Amino acid sequence: MKAIRRFTVRPVLPEPLRPLSDLARNLRWSWHPETRELFRSVDPDGWRAAGGDPVRVLGSVPAGRLAELARDEQFLARLSAASADLDDYLSGDRWYQQQSSGGGEAAELPAAIAYFSPEFGVTAALPQYSGGLGILAGDHLKSASDLGVPLIGVGLLYRHGYFRQSLSRDGWQQEHYPLLDPNELPVTLLRQPDDTPVRVHLALPGGRSLYAHIWVARVGRVPLLMLDSDVEENGPSERDVTDRLYGGGSEHRLLQEMLLGIGGVRAVRAYCALTGHAAPEVFHTNEGHAGFLGLERIRELQQDGTEFDAALEAVRAGTVFTTHTPVPAGIDRFDRHLVARHFGEGAELPAVDTDRILALGRETYPGGDPNVFNMAVMGLRLAQRANGVSTLHGAVSREMFAGLWPGFDPEEVPITSITNGVHAPTWVAPEVRALGARQIGAERAEEALSVGGSLRWDSVTDIPGADIWELRRDLREQLVIEVRTRLRASWRERGAGSAELGWIDGVLDPDVLTIGFARRVPSYKRLTLMLRDRERLTRLLLDPDRPVQIVVAGKAHPADDGGKRLVRELVRFSDDPRVRHRIVFLPDYGMGMAQKLYPGCDVWLNNPLRPLEACGTSGMKAALNGCLNLSVLDGWWDEWFQPDFGWAIPTADGHGLDEDRRDDLEAGALYELIEQRVAPRFYDRDADGLPERWIEMVRSTLADLGPKVLAGRMVREYVERLYAPAAHAHRALDVPGAAELAAWKTRVRTAWPQVAVDHVEVDEASGVAELGATLGLRVRVALGELTPEDVEVQAVAGRVDTSDRLADAQSVPLKPAGGPDQQGRWVYEGPLTLDRTGPFGYTVRILPTHRLLPAGADLGLVALPTEATGEGAGVLMR
Ligand SMILES: *Cc1c(COP(=O)(O)O)cnc(C)c1O
Repeated sequence: MKAIRRFTVRPVLPEPLRPLSDLARNLRWSWHPETRELFRSVDPDGWRAAGGDPVRVLGSVPAGRLAELARDEQFLARLSAASADLDDYLSGDRWYQQQSSGGGEAAELPAAIAYFSPEFGVTAALPQYSGGLGILAGDHLKSASDLGVPLIGVGLLYRHGYFRQSLSRDGWQQEHYPLLDPNELPVTLLRQPDDTPVRVHLALPGGRSLYAHIWVARVGRVPLLMLDSDVEENGPSERDVTDRLYGGGSEHRLLQEMLLGIGGVRAVRAYCALTGHAAPEVFHTNEGHAGFLGLERIRELQQDGTEFDAALEAVRAGTVFTTHTPVPAGIDRFDRHLVARHFGEGAELPAVDTDRILALGRETYPGGDPNVFNMAVMGLRLAQRANGVSTLHGAVSREMFAGLWPGFDPEEVPITSITNGVHAPTWVAPEVRALGARQIGAERAEEALSVGGSLRWDSVTDIPGADIWELRRDLREQLVIEVRTRLRASWRERGAGSAELGWIDGVLDPDVLTIGFARRVPSYKRLTLMLRDRERLTRLLLDPDRPVQIVVAGKAHPADDGGKRLVRELVRFSDDPRVRHRIVFLPDYGMGMAQKLYPGCDVWLNNPLRPLEACGTSGMKAALNGCLNLSVLDGWWDEWFQPDFGWAIPTADGHGLDEDRRDDLEAGALYELIEQRVAPRFYDRDADGLPERWIEMVRSTLADLGPKVLAGRMVREYVERLYAPAAHAHRALDVPGAAELAAWKTRVRTAWPQVAVDHVEVDEASGVAELGATLGLRVRVALGELTPEDVEVQAVAGRVDTSDRLADAQSVPLKPAGGPDQQGRWVYEGPLTLDRTGPFGYTVRILPTHRLLPAGADLGLVALPTEATGEGAGVLMR
C-alpha cells in the first residue's frame, strides 16, 4: 500500500535536551567534529543509519533513550559545552570585525554581502549541489562564517536535488531522484510575525504567477535562503520550477534563473526586513545563472524615481560577477524571444524597458549570435567587477570575453582572478586535524585551518616521519574499508548475490600505492584517459614489486550519453577479475564519499584537457590531507605546482594536434610518470621501512600548499580586492552620483566618434635610442565635445613582437600642454623613457576617465592612432 500523504512527526525533546535542536539546525556541526561526536553518542547506530545527519538522528532516536540522556550528567555537561561553544562562535568578534574596527580603509567594508549561486554544497545532509561550483559556494559560506564576513547566501531548494547514481549490471549509469522533504532537512521556513510563510511572487507571461517560499539554512553565522516553488498557491508546472538542479529544458531553466535572481533579491529584502539583518551593499553572483538579480535591483531603483541609466550605474558599482567557464559552449544562453516574452507585457519587471534588458545580454562581438541572450555577457555588463577562479583561468577569460571590449588587448579586459580555495575544517580528516592539534595546540590549529597564515603551517616540518607515515597508512586503511562497503552495496544493486561477492574482501590493499580520480564526467575531464593503453595500465596495477591501485568515481550529466559511455567503459574495465582487486569504480560520488576518498589516497590524479579546468578544487582538498597531486598543469596546479610536492603531467596542448594523438601522448606521459617517478618514490624505503623522500613531499605539500589552498585565504581576497572596493563604489554612487555618471557616459558615448589621435611626434633633439634615454612625446588629439577632464591621453610602451604587437606594455599619462586650437584640438606632452633593450615600441591612446569608474577599459571605448596619424607612432628600434 502507498500512503496518500506523508508527515514528519517531530520529536519532542525533554527540556534538558532542547539545545540539541539548535545544534542540529546550525550546519556548523558539519565542520565541527566535537558537535558531531556529541550527536553520534546520542545514538551510535542511528547516527550510522542516518549517514551522520543530526536532524535525522533526532527524528529517529527512541523516546526511552532521550529520557536516559536527559538524566545523564556527563552528557548534559558535554551538551552545555557544545552549546556554549556555538554561542561563542556565533556572537564573538572574528577576522572581519577586527578589520572593520581599524577605521580608515577598513571602514569601507560592506555592512552585508548577498552571495547568489544556483547550487550550494554545504553537507551531504543538504544535497543541493552537483559538483565543484556548488561545493565552492558551500565552502565560501562556511569560510565567510569563520571569518565573520556578513554574508547572506541565496539559492533554490530543489525537491529532488541532483540525481543519485547507481549502475546497471553492465555498467550503465542509472539515475534516481529521491524526494527531499524539507521538514526532514536542516532548514527552517521563513515566516511572518503572524506565522504565515513569507511568500515571493513573480509574474509570468499569460497572467500566470510563480510563488515561492523561503527556507533558511544556518551555515554557522551565515543564513542561506533557499527559494522553493513547490507550494500550494502554484499551478502544477510552476510547482515544478524548483524540482531538480540542472534538469529540464530551456524555459524551465529560465524560470529557475528568474526565481533565483529576481525572487532571490525579493527574498533577501524580506529576510532583512523581518530579522533586522543589514541590507547588502554588495551582490556577488557565483557564475551567470543568478544574473537577473541586477535587473531586479534596477527595478527597485526605478521605482524610487531613478532613471534606467543611473540605476544601471548604481547597480553595477555594487555587483561582483565570478565566471567559472573557460569555454563558450559552457555558457548559459537563451533564445532572446523567450527572454523577451518573460520580461514583456504582463510578465516580470514591467517598468524596465524590455529592449534595454535584451541589449544587456546581446552578443555584440564578432561571431556573436544576434538571436541569443547570453547570461555571462549580461553578468559582465551588470557588474563593475568580475573575476575568474585561477590565474590561468583569469587569462583565458580575458581572452574569451575580449570581444566585449573592442580596441583593447585581452590583458586589459577588466576581469581579474581570485584562485579558489577549500574549507579546510570540512575537508581535513579528523585524524589529520588531531595531528595538527598535537603539534601546535587545538586553538592555533583551528585558526591555521580557517583563517590561514603560513607561519603556523611551517610547524609541519617538525612532525616525525614515522608519525606522518602511520597517519597516512591509517587513512589509506579506512579508505580500503569504505571502498569495500560501497562496492558491496553497489554490486547488490547491480543484482549480485552475497555468494558471488566474496572477492570484495580482497579488494584494495592498505599497503599499496593508492591513486584517486573522482570528478564529474564532462568530456574535457577525460575520465578514461588512464584506459588509453589497457595493457600498460594492467601492468602498473599488477606489478609484483610496486603495484598501484586506483579508486575512481564520477557522475555523468543525465543528458550526456557520451559521459555515460565513459563511465561504462571504466566500470567494465574494473569489473575484469584480473584487475578488479586493484581498480574500482564507486557510484554516487558526493561529499560524503569525497571526505573519505581524498584523505585515503596517496596520489590525486587530474588530467583535463588544458586549459579547460577553470580551477579544480578536489586536488586542494587532497593536498590538505597530505595526498600528493599528479596533474596536468591546469587551473590552480598551473599556478602553484612545484616538484617538491607533486608531479606535472606534460601536455601537448597548443600544438594543433588532433585529440586522439594528444590523448595518446598525454596518457603515455602519465604512465611513464607513475612507472618511473611516482611508484619508485613510494616504494623506496629506508632501514626503518619509511619512504623518506615521499614523506618529505607530504610535508612540503602541507607546509607550502596548505595555507594557499584555504577558502579562508580566498574569502579574505574577495573581501579585500572585490567586496570592499565594490562597497566603496556603491557608496560613492548615491542617487545623484549615479545620475551624474550615467549622464556623463551618455555624453562620452555620443561624443566619442569625434575623438581621435590626430598627430604624434617625437622630440628629435632627444637623440639616439639608448637604454635609459628619454624621448619627448608630443601628441595632438581631437576631443570633439569632450574636454581634458573627460579623458586620459596615454603613451603605451613596451616590448614588440615581430608583427609589432606590444607585450608587457606600460601606460603613462601625458599632460595637456595647450589647446584647444581653432579646430578644437588639444596638445599633450610627456616623456617616454626607454627602460629596456631590444625591440621596443610605443603607441598613444585616449581613454575616457571618471572618478567613479575603476578600470580604463570599463566603457569599452578607446581611440588609437590611425595609419595617417604620423610617423611617430610605432616601432622605435629593432
Ligand atoms: C571538490 C568536489 C568536486 C569538485 O572537484 P574538481 O576537482 O573541481 O572537479 C566535485 N564533487 C565533489 C563531491 C567534491 O567534493
